[in-house]
Amino acid sequence: MCGIVGYVGRQPAAPLLFEGLQQLEYRGYDSAGVALVGSSRLRIHKAAGRVGVVAAAAPKRLSGRTGIGHTRWATHGEPTDANAHPHTDAAGEIAVVHNGIIENAAELRATRLADVAFRSETDTEVLAHLIAAQPEGELAERVRLALLEVEGAYGVAVVGVGEPDRIVVARNGSPVLLAVGEHEMFVASDAAAVIRHTDQIVHLDDRELAVVTAEGYRTSTLEAEPTDRQPVRARLVATAFDKAGHRDHMHKEIHEQPVAVERALRGRLDHRHSTSHLGGLHLAPRDVLGLRRVKVLGCGSAHYAGMAGALQIEALARIPADAEVASEFRYRNPIVEPDTLYVAVSQSGETFDTLAAVQEVQRKGGTVIGIVNTAGSSIARACETGIYLHAGPEVSVTSTKTFTSTGVAFALLGLLLGRTRDLGPADGRRLIAGLEALPGHLATVLEAEDEITRLAGLLADAPGAFYVGRVRGHHVALEGAQKLKEVSYVHAEAYPGAELKHGPLALVSEAHPTVVVIPDDDLWDKNVGTIAEIRARRGPVLAVTDADDDVPGATATIRVPRTEPELAPLLLGVPLQLLAYHAARRLERDIDQPRNLAKSVTVE
Ligand code: GLU
Repeated sequence: MCGIVGYVGRQPAAPLLFEGLQQLEYRGYDSAGVALVGSSRLRIHKAAGRVGVVAAAAPKRLSGRTGIGHTRWATHGEPTDANAHPHTDAAGEIAVVHNGIIENAAELRATRLADVAFRSETDTEVLAHLIAAQPEGELAERVRLALLEVEGAYGVAVVGVGEPDRIVVARNGSPVLLAVGEHEMFVASDAAAVIRHTDQIVHLDDRELAVVTAEGYRTSTLEAEPTDRQPVRARLVATAFDKAGHRDHMHKEIHEQPVAVERALRGRLDHRHSTSHLGGLHLAPRDVLGLRRVKVLGCGSAHYAGMAGALQIEALARIPADAEVASEFRYRNPIVEPDTLYVAVSQSGETFDTLAAVQEVQRKGGTVIGIVNTAGSSIARACETGIYLHAGPEVSVTSTKTFTSTGVAFALLGLLLGRTRDLGPADGRRLIAGLEALPGHLATVLEAEDEITRLAGLLADAPGAFYVGRVRGHHVALEGAQKLKEVSYVHAEAYPGAELKHGPLALVSEAHPTVVVIPDDDLWDKNVGTIAEIRARRGPVLAVTDADDDVPGATATIRVPRTEPELAPLLLGVPLQLLAYHAARRLERDIDQPRNLAKSVTVE
């Protein structure tokens, strides 16, 4: 869920560990800690709070050339000093950092480890004691045996005083990778932590374990079968993690959208056949003809992007399509059909529930493709085929550019499916021209930032807000409300326009604004009617539209450039990102790291 780093080499480990943790802090950040391996004992420093604060309070004698570190996103026990990782066994000789959840932790505490005096409430501490409870032997073997006793998801890194030259790591459902340097090795849950030092990355599979020393590594399965894992070059660049002059990553990433969209489109438009070319998607025309349904799976913003995508596919390819929350899908014993194309959407490619949904589809013989930003991630690898967003790393917890890029990926997919079926070449050309114009249009929307900043005050000062839209506008409203909640903590709910009168209207008043997403389409009059209903109850209305004129009845109108109707949501969503951002700025929120959240949700 959050961050693991490890270092073994010739340099003092502590500064490298803290630096790596700082790079990972966006993933989870309620506490942090490191363990350094000395010749006779472990040196541990950990506390609740931000990495910077924990690092500044670290004692000088935190020496050692092998160590592990962690930023925590609490699942078991509050964010306290005692619950911070690393956790150790009773003798203080083995230290563990862990991402994920050990599901049988309570059972192990009550049975196998009934005699142990636990010092934290975490599930992770169980693992430290469980390793110590294995027969004497090599650390890696004891870790392996311990992991055979646990259920759940984990990425773990373990060090022990007996073997100060190595780190043992393992993964099951939560990422851990190795990074190869010159006479030094790093381990991390995300390449972002190590990319400043090396781009040679070794990915592990689930139920795989690695022993890492300064000079190399060896890998095996949890069943002790050796495996062969070669380094691959990470395509991240270290500067992608800088703020490039912006106040925070969210602002930078909102402004990166024109470039991100350009990258999503690069090499993928086929003018000759008025269609798209998606190299990573091995769908034969005959398979496309045989499709009877498209089902999109995702969580959070990826789900809202999936709703938009399903609508696009239905419009362009005339194949029934819908989106479902991945966590619901995986648990309802879904009927998986051979002529359905399943599409898994995840920025990080590590979203646990989405990965589990992918596995459920595959287990039942279905075909699933991924729409993913992070190359080499678990979902990308599980799906084997799919569409990469190429949006560059998204550091802010709140998705912005990857939401928009996902919309572009769906437009490309819709175009491909459509042109293989009934979408004519003229429509194909129309859409291609629309896609090519998108980066410029996005830049135009961003030019209106000053005006949007002013309007954001209306939301920042409100006790809550509604976001409404119909059909194409609805998922834009859902995502807009989500943004406001996430970064400003102002309560917001989204509804289809017609639903307001079935209940929510009771809350509308002078103090309770509504953001209305109103594309210039055949539902315009219906939406204007909704605005009239709100205004009759004195509710302020912020309208976001691609029409040329102000929206009748609205308190204020934010206009975006006109584009093809299928692409309009991609532009209409951007002012909503800026509204949320500037509302949060006014309220002095910690924008890149909103409370209680983490970037990639690798736990259930
Ligand atoms: N379940 C562990 C805990 O609550 C690890 C959570 C995490 O992924 O940070 O401490």
